[in-house]
Amino acid sequence: MKIFAPALALCIGLLSLNAAEPHKHLATPKGGRLLDKTEPHAELVIEKDRTVTINFYSNDLKPVAVTSQTVMVLADAKEGKTKMEFERKGDVLISKNKLPDGEGYIVVQFRQTAEAKPVNLRFKLDLANCAECKRAEYACTCDH
Ligand SMILES: [Zn+2]
Repeated sequence: MKIFAPALALCIGLLSLNAAEPHKHLATPKGGRLLDKTEPHAELVIEKDRTVTINFYSNDLKPVAVTSQTVMVLADAKEGKTKMEFERKGDVLISKNKLPDGEGYIVVQFRQTAEAKPVNLRFKLDLANCAECKRAEYACTCDH
């Protein structure tokens, strides 16, 4: 992300403000992306081997165990479309397979319970590091 120096200064200022505004661009503990409208907070982490982990946190970002939540991910990348199913491992959900290579898009289908209406969250599959927050772009906490 190329930006001008004044914007960077503003960004750093905003980042420190974010600590008091947990509803916006929340930086999750394991460097992943916070999934909106999840309760407890669900964090999607793309691991180095391109498997996906879903962690859960309380409002003060203490880890909590997965209960009734289920997740399905559809990845649409350069190397093709992949459907990812998850299984429970300890307190978290882990994908049974890996993301396809290359960049693209991810659609996360999140269900709070088996009966609940699924929530679909779509975002870019971009693992490059953001120059500002040093997080991967898919989990970037900057306002851009
Ligand atoms: Zn960033």
